Amino acid sequence: MSITRRDFLNAATATAGAAMTPGLSDAHPDEHDHEHQAEPSDPTLRVKALESLLVEKGLVDRAALDALVDTYEHKIGPRNGARVVARAWADPVYKQRLLADANDAMADFGYLSKQGDRMVVVENTPTVHNLIVCTLCSCYPWAVLGLPPVWYKSAPYRSRAVIDPRGVVREFGLELDQNVELHVWDSTAELRYMVLPERPAGTEQLNEDELAALVTRDAMVGVARVAPPSGGKR
Ligand code: FE
Repeated sequence: MSITRRDFLNAATATAGAAMTPGLSDAHPDEHDHEHQAEPSDPTLRVKALESLLVEKGLVDRAALDALVDTYEHKIGPRNGARVVARAWADPVYKQRLLADANDAMADFGYLSKQGDRMVVVENTPTVHNLIVCTLCSCYPWAVLGLPPVWYKSAPYRSRAVIDPRGVVREFGLELDQNVELHVWDSTAELRYMVLPERPAGTEQLNEDELAALVTRDAMVGVARVAPPSGGKR
C-alpha cells in the first residue's frame, strides 16, 4: 500500500523537479536524467521555488516543513473528519443529517468551510464504494481532512482515479468485489466530498472516541476501508 503512495509522490515530485531544474541546471546537471512530465501548475512551481530558496539560504529546515505538513495531513485535519464519521456510526439520526446536509451536520463540531463551498458526504455500503478526486486540481475537504496528501494532487491519481478507479484502489490495497459499484466523485472549489466509510465489524462496544481512532484519512477519501480494531476490545 505504501509503495503506491510513494509512487504517486515520486511522480509528483519528479514533475515539480523537472520543471524547476532549468534555473539550476548548471549546479545540478545530473538532475536531468529523469523523464520530464506535464508541467505542474504555476502556484506549485512558485511554492517549490520559494521553498528551495529558503532551504538553500538556511532560513528554513526542510525536515521541519515536512513535519508541519505531516501534522496537518495526518494528525489535525483527518481527526476532524474521523470525529464526524464516528458520530454518524454511533448516531443514526446524525448520520441522516450528515448525508442530507453535511455542512449543517459538521457545523455541530464547529467545522466550517472558510471558502463557503458545499460539502457532500457519500456513504459506503456493502454494495457501493465511493472514491473522491479532483480531476482539475486539488479541491479537498480541508475543514474535515486537513491538507490533501501529495498523491491526491498528483497527475497520475487525478487522471487514473477516473480512467481506472478499481485499479487505483487496488494499488492502495483495496480489492473490491465485481458486484460492488464504484462511484467516483469529482470535487470542485464549490463542491467537496468526503466518504463515510463502512463501520467495521467488532466495533459494537466502542464509544465515539474509540471509533474515531479507527478512522483514517485514506478511508475518508475512499482508497481504503476502516480496519477492525486490532487486538479486540481494550
Ligand atoms: Fe481542485
